[in-house]
Amino acid sequence: MYQPDLAGTGAVKYVGYLWFGHSYPKGKIAGLILERLVAIAEKSWFQARGFHKCNLGFCGVTQMLRDQPIFRYRGRTLTLGSSEILVPDDEKLYSAPNLILHYIRHHRYRPPECFCAAVLKCPAVDSTEYRERLGKWLDLNHLPPVHQKR
Ligand SMILES: [Zn+2]
Repeated sequence: MYQPDLAGTGAVKYVGYLWFGHSYPKGKIAGLILERLVAIAEKSWFQARGFHKCNLGFCGVTQMLRDQPIFRYRGRTLTLGSSEILVPDDEKLYSAPNLILHYIRHHRYRPPECFCAAVLKCPAVDSTEYRERLGKWLDLNHLPPVHQKR
């Protein structure tokens, strides 16, 4: 599913739903942003609908036709393509596929500035503060438990 960056309805804004044939901004981002995104992705509760793969071009991930793409980062291994990263900001809630990690590292994707800023100040995913921030926009009582599909 392609979505232009910062598209979305209401407070929810999509970031990083890249797709073959659609151009996207490229450039370097601070290492700390990637580090924080990995931390959020690692503990993401949100299973995406369906299963995404990178289709931006030939890269390590597209070679693995049957397996889910993985992302290695400082001794950690994350499975990509089936969960969402939610980053609350004061007035918005950013939703990104966790493939964004791969897009940043392998395809030089540069997410919007406001998203990067929100990532840097995002509370730890397992904190009460994070839940409270998400609770502004989502009904947390209807959230699926960790690692369970919708
Ligand atoms: Zn790729």
